[in-house]
Amino acid sequence: MLLHDRIPPLPAPHPARRLAPLWPVLALGAALGACGGSDIELPAPPPPPVVVDTACQQSTASGAVVVGSGLPGDPAIPEPASGYKLGAKPVVSKGYMVVTANPLASQAGCEILKKGGSAVDAAVAVQAVLGLVEPQSSGLGGGAFMLHFNAKTGVVQAYDGREQAPAAATQDYLRYISASNNAYPLPTAASVVTDSAAFNGVRASGRSVGTPGAVRMLELAYQDNGKLPWNGLFASGIKLATDGFKISGRMADAIALNKASLLVDAEATAYFYGPGPDYAPKALGTLLKNPAYADSLTALASGGANALYTGPIAQAVVDKIAATVGSGPTAIALTPGLTTMADMAAYKPVKRTAVCTTYRAWWVCGMPPPSSGGIAVAQTLGMLENYYMPGFGPTSMDAEGGKPSVLGVHLVSEAERLAYADRNKYVADTDFVPLPGDNTDALLSKDYLRGRANLIRFDKSMGVATAGVFPGFVPQGVSDAEGRGTTHMTIVDGAGNVVVMTTTVESSMGSFRMAKGFLLNNQLTDFSFAPSDAAGPIANRVGPGKRPRSSMAPTLVFAKAADGSKGAFVMGTGSPGGASIIQFVTKTVVGVLDWGMDAQQATSMINFGASNSATTGVGGEHPNVVVANNGGGDALVIGLRALGHTVSVAAQSSGTGTVIKTQLNGAAALVGGADPRREGLVLGDGLKP
Ligand code: GLU
Repeated sequence: MLLHDRIPPLPAPHPARRLAPLWPVLALGAALGACGGSDIELPAPPPPPVVVDTACQQSTASGAVVVGSGLPGDPAIPEPASGYKLGAKPVVSKGYMVVTANPLASQAGCEILKKGGSAVDAAVAVQAVLGLVEPQSSGLGGGAFMLHFNAKTGVVQAYDGREQAPAAATQDYLRYISASNNAYPLPTAASVVTDSAAFNGVRASGRSVGTPGAVRMLELAYQDNGKLPWNGLFASGIKLATDGFKISGRMADAIALNKASLLVDAEATAYFYGPGPDYAPKALGTLLKNPAYADSLTALASGGANALYTGPIAQAVVDKIAATVGSGPTAIALTPGLTTMADMAAYKPVKRTAVCTTYRAWWVCGMPPPSSGGIAVAQTLGMLENYYMPGFGPTSMDAEGGKPSVLGVHLVSEAERLAYADRNKYVADTDFVPLPGDNTDALLSKDYLRGRANLIRFDKSMGVATAGVFPGFVPQGVSDAEGRGTTHMTIVDGAGNVVVMTTTVESSMGSFRMAKGFLLNNQLTDFSFAPSDAAGPIANRVGPGKRPRSSMAPTLVFAKAADGSKGAFVMGTGSPGGASIIQFVTKTVVGVLDWGMDAQQATSMINFGASNSATTGVGGEHPNVVVANNGGGDALVIGLRALGHTVSVAAQSSGTGTVIKTQLNGAAALVGGADPRREGLVLGDGLKP
């Protein structure tokens, strides 16, 4: 096993031999040679220094291991997916760091950073690999949100690469086949009555697919912040797709779980399953090659994002969305989506103003609409600011983030209920539907949030919160739907620039259709299917060219400078998890800022919180939760129930990735944590001598 990647010692030269051409004193020898000497005799040089370079390697108890080497301790060796891996330790690095949800993707990003690449360069390389090794979560056929911090200018820039509804989409696009046929799009049975049956069916129709945005957005961010040549950023992805990679535990589970749906699509069937008639799911550890994906990446590498948005790849995407019948062994009827080549070509990523607010001694910046993530996290923190949160810290602490206190969970959950109530009613794509007051100020005003915080009682849960009232603002209906199949990366480059990016195909395996080696998203199901309810039109209804509301919350934290302005970078985090993302991010931020946890502890800590319902979640996958008897023996659960919370101890599948910048032994250091609930890995430049 390679423990330390030593520079191989140079051969001991014979005392009287000619100079080896690579020897460091070559220049001296050459100079002497130039003066007329020929075979110069020099004394033996000192032994070369041993440079221990563990950059981009995984440290283990016995040393560092190259990721992807297959050697013992290699985190890329596939393991069955587990609910929670005990004992994750914070990773410390000096100069740069990358956290992603997959070891091979972290490796690709780290190699770019090692070459001096920027955080955005690394994000491009990471996305190229994630679309291959974690296709169930994100890829070329999906969308993403990124926050970028420029260390030189101090500017935080939000990049919106959210999928978009086609120009032909009407407000009934997701619920009616057509104006004259008011049945759900196929394959949903016209008779479905439950929301989840409607969701699952519509998701598998062509109507769920939004025009992808992740690649265009990465290109835009690269134009602003790229450093290394664009075409080199795809090398790891192309190599892995060509040579093959081993199917990970989570990917294997997703292949097995989604078999019935994926067999509708011929390309997905051929890629993920064995031959018919069994179509056995390819299992954990199977070597999988994806030449079509390698070709798509090669086209992107040389042609830029245009290669995806115009020409044959775009055509393949459009054709797949337009399918009226399954191309795979399960050839069922499908309602086509109405995306055209013009929709593809017209897609534009958008630079938006990040949502930045103060929280005690910090500034917290998040993603603006069409994500609700930034506003909801900021509102929650803005309410919590009215309580002395450090006084409600965990009752015990350990490497897994300890055990949060009853009142700590109560306060955070109540604040979240109030934030979700506003989110569900008011937040959608602001290019189409204005926020109260027409910007984020009203929803984030300290006075407003103090008033909201006053609705929280110490002795009793409010159950379901009511949205705030904004005089003169038109009454609106609410929507809260969202699926789960996403991934997050946090990257700090050697110059201190930071990327936090959450990227997604929406639900696991998206819309179950594949083109040119990648899966197409089902992001449009994040819209409300109904355009209105009894209270009025729903802000998050479908519209042509509109982007569905998200909960994705890539988040950056900065110190408050002496003059109150945004100061030094402190922390970057984010997570997948559908609407629960807001809770995962909030608990991580509170864990670090208020409860003094390191990046790993805060990431590992029990997931807790609430959306706007009477149920408060306490993630039962965590080893510090006693799930037996529905949590009846768990002190935290008992305490919350005594306050009137309906507590669920169902497992919560976050995928948080956190990096904190701090001081260790008087020197600046980065400390990273990857969620023990997924396959993520933190890599950095290690501790060089
Ligand atoms: N579609 C969701 C959103 O945009 C994300 C789904 C997930 O996190 O898995 O917010």
